[in-house]
Amino acid sequence: MFVDKAKITIKAGNGGNGAVSFHREKYVNAGGPDGGDGGKGGDVIFVVDEGMSTLVDFRYKKKFIAKNGENGSSRNCTGKSAEDLIIKVPRGTLIRDAQTGRLIADISSNEPKVICKGGKGGAGNQHFATATRQIPRFAKPGQIGEGYEVTLELKLLADVGLVGFPNVGKSTLISVVSEAKPKIANYHFTTLSPVLGLVKLDEGKSFVMADIPGLIEGASDGVGLGHEFLRHVDRCRLIVHVVDVSGVEGRDPKEDFIAINKELKLFSEDLSNRPQIVAANKSDMASSEQIDDFKEFVKDKGYEFFEISAATTAGVDKLIAHIGKMLDTLPPITEYEPEPLTLEMIEQSQNKQQFSIEVKNGIYYVDAPFLENVMSTVNMEDYESLQYFQRVLRFSGIIDELEGMGIKDGDTVDIFGFQFDFIV
Ligand code: GDP
Ligand code: MG
Repeated sequence: MFVDKAKITIKAGNGGNGAVSFHREKYVNAGGPDGGDGGKGGDVIFVVDEGMSTLVDFRYKKKFIAKNGENGSSRNCTGKSAEDLIIKVPRGTLIRDAQTGRLIADISSNEPKVICKGGKGGAGNQHFATATRQIPRFAKPGQIGEGYEVTLELKLLADVGLVGFPNVGKSTLISVVSEAKPKIANYHFTTLSPVLGLVKLDEGKSFVMADIPGLIEGASDGVGLGHEFLRHVDRCRLIVHVVDVSGVEGRDPKEDFIAINKELKLFSEDLSNRPQIVAANKSDMASSEQIDDFKEFVKDKGYEFFEISAATTAGVDKLIAHIGKMLDTLPPITEYEPEPLTLEMIEQSQNKQQFSIEVKNGIYYVDAPFLENVMSTVNMEDYESLQYFQRVLRFSGIIDELEGMGIKDGDTVDIFGFQFDFIV
């Protein structure tokens, strides 16, 4: 089965927490702080895997979470950084933020791309000793690793896309010009997944041709087969429109030609303006009148015309040589630039530091997932550690919110079961 869309969750590892520890040795009394730093969380990195041609693997495994960095420990030991999580995808996979639809990356080149950065490790208490603060009883928590829900969408990379009705001979054509071996059969809808073939030209040059399943009328409205496959010709530099000129199936080549171009236009204006040439196939079964009539029609519309027979390979070499020449002059395959974050999206992502406050029986209950990590490293008995904690509360806007809700000096605040008095 051909799967070219998937929705997955990816998350980088959190940084390890810094350690609170003091040097201890026989005969040495008050040792200095020696709590090591936390290690970095693993990144989530996407790479192209040449062997993959679909996103079928992502139908079953949907969560990809990199490991967290290790916590720091005593004797200034830095926690181990976690390994990066490598996700392999077929070439041409687009990664979008599922929430906003924003394009995060186009995995088309061989360069690995870091999509989620792992959190930095927190600093151990060794860093917090100063002349006036000799016993730092706190350390910093590791940062949370980035995470998203993303959609993966495959948009094949090919120089040339074959389009046309089912059964016109697209698969036959690709099979005679490349090593690709798609199914060829005399019934409609034989090609259920796009097939890529490498076409070799003289002088060591080559190009990639894509055979996509046949379009049928109404395809761009999502009726029947084809619509979802048009995506795979979206990047093509040149469209080769294959038409059955013989009409052996009882269809009219002119009507077919118009119908397919209408579908392309409905799918995307851009695609309908892409350079296009016409391959009139099954010429071995057509009369010369049929061929000439169609040729005139095509040329009138301003397209280049090639008479071929994929079955006997007549005219195929000439077509391929011409395609090779055209490609020399056409712009390269589109690689999509990541879309920038809009102000709105930045605001949304800042809301990740979300919290809610509820008052019950005079107690202010604060719920804030991001605080959980902070809480795990704050030493509530330690004055400076508490000060740090208060800065976090102020910075995140929790204190403003509490004040806005009318909190008074001495009221109780509860954060994950830890209760303290609010002091103005
Ligand atoms: P697709 O659906 O466009 O991929 O069409 P196929 O390549 O599967 O071909 C459909 C049928 O047309 C098969 O039975 C082929 O053998 C036949 N066919 C393809 N090209 C030619 C040709 O040039 N001449 C003749 N006579 N038959 C052909
Ligand atoms: Mg086919």
